[in-house]
Amino acid sequence: MKAFNCQLCSQPTYFENDRCLSCGSQLGYLPDVHSLVALAQHADGLLYPLANNPRNQGYRVCLNTSEWHACNWLIAADSDAVYCRSCCLNEIIPDLSVASNVPLWTKLEAGKRRLLYSLLRLGLPVLSKAESPEKGLAFRFLKDISASFRENNTVLTGHSKGIITINLAEADDAERERRRLDLNEVYRTVLGHFRHESGHHYWQLLVANSAAQAQFRQLFGDERVDYDTAIGNHYGSGPKPGWESRYITAYASSHPLEDWAESWAHFVTIVDSLETATEFGVVITGNGSKQLFAPLDSYWSTTFDELLEQWLPLTYAVNSINRSSGHGDLYPFVLCRPAIQKLRFVQQVVRNARFNLGQGAG
Ligand SMILES: [Zn+2]
Ligand SMILES: [Zn+2]
Ligand SMILES: [Zn+2]
Repeated sequence: MKAFNCQLCSQPTYFENDRCLSCGSQLGYLPDVHSLVALAQHADGLLYPLANNPRNQGYRVCLNTSEWHACNWLIAADSDAVYCRSCCLNEIIPDLSVASNVPLWTKLEAGKRRLLYSLLRLGLPVLSKAESPEKGLAFRFLKDISASFRENNTVLTGHSKGIITINLAEADDAERERRRLDLNEVYRTVLGHFRHESGHHYWQLLVANSAAQAQFRQLFGDERVDYDTAIGNHYGSGPKPGWESRYITAYASSHPLEDWAESWAHFVTIVDSLETATEFGVVITGNGSKQLFAPLDSYWSTTFDELLEQWLPLTYAVNSINRSSGHGDLYPFVLCRPAIQKLRFVQQVVRNARFNLGQGAG
């Protein structure tokens, strides 16, 4: 993620901010130029960015900003959309007349915007179902019917035909932690869910029936293996023995498509975390004799190895800082050789998609 500053007072701001905490100016995000901007309201009632606005274009806020304070993305004034590029992808949201749903839903929206930031930065196609019923992406945020989140009537977080469903309970920290422990996972986050599920969408878009499918099967296995049986076996008898030497996570060993989605999610996590470190000017020099982490444009990398070379020293350092402050590891995974091969493949698929879309040879 890029590092943002208020253009009025230079105070650092977060991607999620809609107001500068130092000078109070209104902030909004411009997804097309990946920029968080301070805004001035003009006499025409529109908002004008103080930077990154070469055409002197006016903007409006998204309806979810004005009604729920749940979004900070802007809409160009010449568009008749009422929802921004992120919120317009929502197909179902929870009942907001139930007060306790609002903060949980807001958390999911924030995770979705971080996912979309990465997809747009990677130069991937992000279309709504209105733009393309076949290739479009949509979100359903659903709540369990049973208030106690029993197994019956449980909403399954998952993906089907471009529709990503996220259970609202995943935004509840206590509930998500309970599920993480139940499922014996080392990592379970809202953002991780979005990244994982988007992997299924882009597999369908970029790998299925493409020239890359044969190589996919060589690396990940044949995805035509019965899905329900594979997932049933995973939850019934546990992950494949010795998964550590072949897969990125235990869950990745359940089925080739889950292996892909886990690899995809890790790829996006690595790219975005490296960008954040670079944006903050992080340099790790180890014992001083060798530069171990150097800034790079991770979103436009040409090979995965270029990223890996920086990722390993960065995670050693940040994991150590986390341990010093009493937290768990930032990145609690060991990348075995086959997992690295799969991450190389993900990077190539992304790069080819960008090339095919004519967004540069990067
Ligand atoms: Zn400010
Ligand atoms: Zn919005
Ligand atoms: Zn999955």
